[in-house]
Amino acid sequence: QWIYLGDQFVKKEDAKISVYDHGFLYGDGVFEGIRVYDGNIFKMEDHMKRLYNSAKSILLTIPHTQEELTNIICEAVAKNNHKDAYIRVVISRGVGDLGLDPNKCKKANVVIIVEPLAIFPKHLYDTGLEIITVATRRNRPDVLSPQVKSLNYLNNVLVRIEAHLANVSEALMLNDQGYVAEGSADNVFIIKNGKLYTPPAYVGALEGITRNAIMEIARELNYEVYEEPFTRHDVYTAEEVFLTGTAAEVIAVIKVDGRVIGEGVPGEHTKTLLKGFREKVVQDGVK
Ligand code: PLP
Repeated sequence: QWIYLGDQFVKKEDAKISVYDHGFLYGDGVFEGIRVYDGNIFKMEDHMKRLYNSAKSILLTIPHTQEELTNIICEAVAKNNHKDAYIRVVISRGVGDLGLDPNKCKKANVVIIVEPLAIFPKHLYDTGLEIITVATRRNRPDVLSPQVKSLNYLNNVLVRIEAHLANVSEALMLNDQGYVAEGSADNVFIIKNGKLYTPPAYVGALEGITRNAIMEIARELNYEVYEEPFTRHDVYTAEEVFLTGTAAEVIAVIKVDGRVIGEGVPGEHTKTLLKGFREKVVQDGVK
C-alpha cells in the first residue's frame, strides 16, 4: 500500500509524521473522505470544493492547486489498485514548535490514504441499525462551523463512545436547542407521509455530499424533500429513518432510543433511494 505523505509516495510502514505536526498537537487541519466505486471517484469536485473551503475558513494554505491535488489523488487511487475504496485526504498545518501559533508552521502537510473501508458490519445494511441520541451536542455553527471538516473531531468521537457504551454502532447528536443535527459521521433523514426531511445546515448538520446526492435522487424520483429542523419526537414517529455518509453510504435505522421505527425493518422508500444511489455512484464517478 502506497501513502502520499508530504510530497511523495511512501510505503505504509514508512508513512510517519512528526510529533511537532500541529495536526497532531492541536487538531489543526482539515480532511475529506471520498469514495471510489468500481474505479470511479464519486463526486470528486464537490469533495475538493469542500476541502478547499474548509482550509480557507481556517486560513490554511493547501500547497497545491485544486487541479494538482486532484491529480495526486487520482494517482494515489491508481497506485493502490483498489476498485472499491475510501480515500482519506488530510491537510494538517504542518510542523511547528510546541506553541499553537500556526505561523510557526512553514508548510501544510498533505496525507492521502486509499484503502477499503467498511464502518458498519455488512449485515447491518440488510437488517438496519439500532441507534440512540446522546448527550454530546453539535458545536454551534457560529462557534466553529460544522461545514469545516476539521481535525477536531472530539464531539464526534464522544458521540461514538456514548453509542458504544450503549451497545449500538451509531448515535445522533442534537444541537444546543435540542433539534436533531446529525450522526457522528453521517447525516440523518426521516420520512413522514412519504416526504423526506433532513436537518438544514444552520441546525448544525454538515452539508454532506451523500446527503446532497440523496436529495437529488429523491427529487428525480418525485419525492418532496425538505431541509427543516426536527426533534427527537419526529424521529421516533417517522415512517422511516436512514443515515447517509461517504463511509456509511445509505443505511436504514430501525430503532432509536428503544422506539421501533416503522415495521422495524428497512423501509421501502429507503430501499428505493439506496437503489437510486447505487446506480448514481457508477454514473457520476470520475475515472
Ligand atoms: N456529518 C459529519 C460530521 C461527517 O463527518 C460526515 C462525513 O463526511 C458526514 C456528515 C457525511 O458527509 P458526506 O456524505 O459528505 O461524507
